[in-house]
Amino acid sequence: MKIVLATRNAGKIAELRRILSGFDIVGLEEFPSIGEVAETGTTFEENALLKAHAVAQGSGLPAVADDSGLCVDVLNGMPGVFSARWSGRHGDDRANLDLLLAQVGDVPEDKLGAHFACCAALALPSGEWRVAEGTLPGRIITTPRGTNGFGYDPILVPDGDTRTTAELSPEEKDAISHRGRAFRALAPIVRELLGS
Ligand code: IMP
Repeated sequence: MKIVLATRNAGKIAELRRILSGFDIVGLEEFPSIGEVAETGTTFEENALLKAHAVAQGSGLPAVADDSGLCVDVLNGMPGVFSARWSGRHGDDRANLDLLLAQVGDVPEDKLGAHFACCAALALPSGEWRVAEGTLPGRIITTPRGTNGFGYDPILVPDGDTRTTAELSPEEKDAISHRGRAFRALAPIVRELLGS
């Protein structure tokens, strides 16, 4: 059974293929007519569902999409859904991270609780849908460390570790990440709904 993952990111496609073995996971490159879906939602679930529904309708196949971000306690959960565009420029990881660090610069590190959050959504061409969530709790450090990963990885230290997620290997991060957890929670739901 074919499932379209609403992304052109090869890393995400490989990760979902590992988790949803038995399904034929394809990316958006097989559907060039499906354009970018604007992330107009105000929650991870809304944005994930917007993308999953658009791709299910556009492809005529079951579609999986995710939306994720960093939620900082002292910022009332922000940047949240605005994580990728916190500095005003979409996808400028360094500017987003620098602005966040400037904002919390005076907050003692023991008050810098934060978590990565992810919502993974499945939508069928019929309009039926399901969602699953995953989080990675930890804290922010004010001096970035590590070169793996992307985005806010150099400043998030997961609970129970001393390394940032940018200092973990990709396999170590997959095993505990918000995205890995959300996709793994969605897997049995996909199997149940699609019967495989
Ligand atoms: P998206 O869900 O791929 O649109 O990602 C949203 C944004 O959240 C990214 O651009 C990053 O800024 C941030 N983010 C999401 N997941 C991670 C992660 O695993 N590490 C670091 N930053 C992340």
